[in-house]
Amino acid sequence: MAVPFRKVSKTRKRMRRAHNALTAPGTIKCPNCGEMIRPHRVCPACGFYKGKEEVKKDAE
Ligand SMILES: [Zn+2]
Repeated sequence: MAVPFRKVSKTRKRMRRAHNALTAPGTIKCPNCGEMIRPHRVCPACGFYKGKEEVKKDAE
């Protein structure tokens, strides 16, 4: 198996990882219930999508 020729220094390792940060997924406010939800998805809180289209959801 191939093995790295030199030890990667702390600086090099950290420089490489400087670009590895995760970004939070975008969220929008549900126009029906105001819950923060992922865009282009049925609201998990109230089951609404695009104004009406309900996908079962009792409670309330
Ligand atoms: Zn909702």
